[in-house]
Amino acid sequence: MKKILYIFITIIIIALIFVASKLFIENNCKLEVKQTMRESCSLQVTQKEIEDKDNYYSEIEKLNSQTFMDEQVNTYIASIRSDFIEETKSYNKLKKGERAVITDTIDSYEVNDNLYGIRITINMKKVNSDEYTTIIKTYNFDSTNQKEINLNDLFKSGYEEIVGKYDQVLLKEKAMYLYDGEYLNEVKYNDLKEYVIKDMLLSQNLDITQEEYDELFASKVDPNKKMVAITFDDGPNPNNTPQILEALKQNNAKATFFMLGQNVKQYPETVKSVYDLGNEIGIHTWDHPQLTKLSVENIKKQVSDTSDAIFEITGYRPTIVRPPYGSFNDTVKSTLSDYSLILWNIDSLDWKSRDENKFVPLVMNDVQDGDIILLHDIHSTTVPGAQKIITQLTEQGYQLVTVSELIEAKGYDTSKAQVFYSGRQ
Ligand code: ZN
Repeated sequence: MKKILYIFITIIIIALIFVASKLFIENNCKLEVKQTMRESCSLQVTQKEIEDKDNYYSEIEKLNSQTFMDEQVNTYIASIRSDFIEETKSYNKLKKGERAVITDTIDSYEVNDNLYGIRITINMKKVNSDEYTTIIKTYNFDSTNQKEINLNDLFKSGYEEIVGKYDQVLLKEKAMYLYDGEYLNEVKYNDLKEYVIKDMLLSQNLDITQEEYDELFASKVDPNKKMVAITFDDGPNPNNTPQILEALKQNNAKATFFMLGQNVKQYPETVKSVYDLGNEIGIHTWDHPQLTKLSVENIKKQVSDTSDAIFEITGYRPTIVRPPYGSFNDTVKSTLSDYSLILWNIDSLDWKSRDENKFVPLVMNDVQDGDIILLHDIHSTTVPGAQKIITQLTEQGYQLVTVSELIEAKGYDTSKAQVFYSGRQ
């Protein structure tokens, strides 16, 4: 009989604990006024600080256990709190219902192994008020490169038209949440598929199979159709390069831009659009020295500094180098054995004539399948000529491809550290 009683009491106690914990969780969620906050209640609280003062009640709650960007998160919270709490100090002897309330909730979401979204939700009620105001602040973090990221790092230009205007964005696993003061809406990554930059969002984020994902980024080059690779040296240039990009885009064409590190550093936005539009970026050294006159160490530095600058902006490391003046020797080749050296077989001499009536025919009269054409986007006089070359080649049925696409389509491999003058070895 006693035994049964013990069991009975134990069951009652367990039931009470269950009900109490449920109540506790619900109570915790009571202050949350926005629909988007509700999901946070199912997350685990990993850190909680409470201040129960006469003039205000404050709570900082961290859900999950992320520690990315802690400094930025803490600084932001502190800046809002200090002003809010300061204001309550002019009041004294407030009753519980009258005092101010501030709650900060920080939750985070794993998008994939490299990406995390962090959201701060601050709910505030002033002294003698019943109304809560909410502030949402978000950060998105790339753990591989240890840096904060934004949508321009995930998507090629054009996505803005679908996403629209927003103030804050939170990256989650399959979609992002947009906020403008309050929750606006959710945009699925899958709906932005065509704008996704490779390897930033993965197949799981797009809700497609790995096969479909690979297909999405597969080269659209037809190896049986004629093709050429147009290359632009010495840029990027913030005036000329975008005009050339536009011409390429309109003809569904790609080109390769051999950039100088010093210009990369100066015009990061131009670099970014070159890359986002699917063009290839190659290295043309930092400041255009003749590599055959440099020490091994300086050759390396000219190339690695430029690679770093390009990587910083695009997350991509070039695999091809064009030596300035086309000048190289065995030392240059062996020092840069991680790269293929890309020369050219059609020299437009655009830098010399500065006249499209001269250099356009020079290219068009000579061109054939597999060619690599040399132009310079550093000269404004090259722009109208380049636009003509791009349009005319497209009209003649050429596929305008990147250097790596050309070499690959012709059955070679840029990773094998060779010298290429054209796609015909
Ligand atoms: Zn050059």
